Amino acid sequence: MLRDHACGALRKEHVGKRVTLAGWVDRRRDHGGLVFIDLRDCEGVVQVVFNPGVSGSAHETASGLRSEYVIQVTGEVGLRPAGTENSQLPTGDVEVITSSVTVLNTSETPPFYINREIDVDENLRLKYRYLDLRRGRMRRNLILRHRVVKFIRDFLDARGFIEVETPVMIKSTPEGARDYLVPSRVHPGKFYALPQSPQQLKQLLMVAGVERYFQIARCFRDEDTRADRQPEHTQLDLEMSFVDEEDILGLMEELFTCLVKSVTPHKRLVEPWPRLAYEDAMDRYGTDKPDLRFGLELANLSDIVAGSEFGVFREAIAAGGVVKGFSAPGCGGYSRSQLEEPNKLAQSVGARGLLTVSLGDEPGSLESLTPDMVRSVAARFLGVDQVREMAQRAGASRGDLLLIAAGDKKLVNRVLDELRREMSSRLGLADPDTLVFLFVRDFPLLRWDADSGRWDSEHHPFTAPRTEDIPLLDTAPEKVRSRHYDIVCNGLELASGSIRIHDPALQRRIFRLLAYSDEEIQERFGPLLEAFRYGAPPHGGIAPGIDRIVMLLADEATIREVIAFPKNQNAVDLMLDAPSAASEDQLAELHLSIRDE
Ligand code: ASP
Repeated sequence: MLRDHACGALRKEHVGKRVTLAGWVDRRRDHGGLVFIDLRDCEGVVQVVFNPGVSGSAHETASGLRSEYVIQVTGEVGLRPAGTENSQLPTGDVEVITSSVTVLNTSETPPFYINREIDVDENLRLKYRYLDLRRGRMRRNLILRHRVVKFIRDFLDARGFIEVETPVMIKSTPEGARDYLVPSRVHPGKFYALPQSPQQLKQLLMVAGVERYFQIARCFRDEDTRADRQPEHTQLDLEMSFVDEEDILGLMEELFTCLVKSVTPHKRLVEPWPRLAYEDAMDRYGTDKPDLRFGLELANLSDIVAGSEFGVFREAIAAGGVVKGFSAPGCGGYSRSQLEEPNKLAQSVGARGLLTVSLGDEPGSLESLTPDMVRSVAARFLGVDQVREMAQRAGASRGDLLLIAAGDKKLVNRVLDELRREMSSRLGLADPDTLVFLFVRDFPLLRWDADSGRWDSEHHPFTAPRTEDIPLLDTAPEKVRSRHYDIVCNGLELASGSIRIHDPALQRRIFRLLAYSDEEIQERFGPLLEAFRYGAPPHGGIAPGIDRIVMLLADEATIREVIAFPKNQNAVDLMLDAPSAASEDQLAELHLSIRDE
């Protein structure tokens, strides 16, 4: 190699050694005749000194070096003079006294500082991603991602799993998003679909007798790029034969617990992982992916305010809705302007408004709460006893603030979920170094889609119903519970999975319930149904999102920070400028023409 040591590897024990290094000029400083360079490679940074007394020509070259030039230096490792050591740097006790330097390449001035951890416009970072990735934080994220994937592979290998690649050009498999299509040149008018997940293929691998499959699999979903989504994301796709729920959940709990302890040992975990039933999660947190690092549990107040004269409550309950709320501890003294933000947030989610009830400015017992301490637009409709009862239900004390929403159950849950997260971030309740993984179970198998007037799968159509609920498929489909489970961590859905249907008759029955015609069933799922006729073993699996888990472990706020070359929020690759137009020739070959809309 062009070097015999890594910059970041030099320590006191190297003092006196002659070394050759190669890397990038991180910083250059001229000090009274000496030139100092921080030389950076992928292992770290070391100080390199150019002394005209040691080598005049090296010193002269050094004077012309600029940030990001690529150089090779040879010199002797020395101790830094007393008082100039840098304890922030692993190499901070030493420096290299250079005797010769070669410029391997020059660099234009980069569009942003690479040597400083400062905020840079994300679009600029994405355009010059190869420079962005030189920065320490991004390098740490890439390395962390590598460690996570390597850990997963080793862990599963040790437990008898084999990694099998499945094709990227397949036939559409439904996961609830739009497909990306690839036009076929040799079959005019026909298209491959990019997999939204390898779902059917991994089930076919079970029919093939693989028994323990996994894959670090790329999944493609053409979704509106709201929220933190990417057109392509990476999953740990996994499937096992002869298992029930506990086998998959146990494996996942062990995998992720060991993973965190191994790659981010500073993170705190809650063990064993809590488990929540879907209904319970919705009642207590308003969401099926609650952040359990903090409480702020929702309380149903409907029965307490059932006879209330307060119009908002009365109307909500009369319309079959609910009144729910939670307590924000110590926020009883919130001013009007401090309440503005939560109010706006509630409205942005679709609520008509948010009702707040202040339980006084000072902390104290609920018994000591007097009517004059209660502040709320509903105060004159609510007696102090009623307020106390609501407070008690929400676990509040004097000095706290009740945040209450009334109306349709779904909307109320959505509003309170948002507010719960907002208040936890205001109050600093969610410790960034704690990970609370949990399992959510007992999902309904189906949900009614009012827009299309038909049943939709809560997970996907291959999910098995609970055996004891199968008779309800004909009489009360909404009551059928499924064998689907989710992994949630710190308010993020990390994985979905299920025990699958392996009986072709039951699978066909579910497709029909989902309003697929027999032709559609044959056309879209024929091969799977046929395969199930040849001794399909009972099987189940799961697919945790790799981007999300790495994002959590790296303390990043978006998955873009842990993907080497992500698309931006508009699904554009700013570096390669994709998507881009195809030439007339290409379109003609693919039998395509572009319609002007
Ligand atoms: N294929 C599912 C998904 O991508 C996961 C699974 O059921 O294994 O969400």
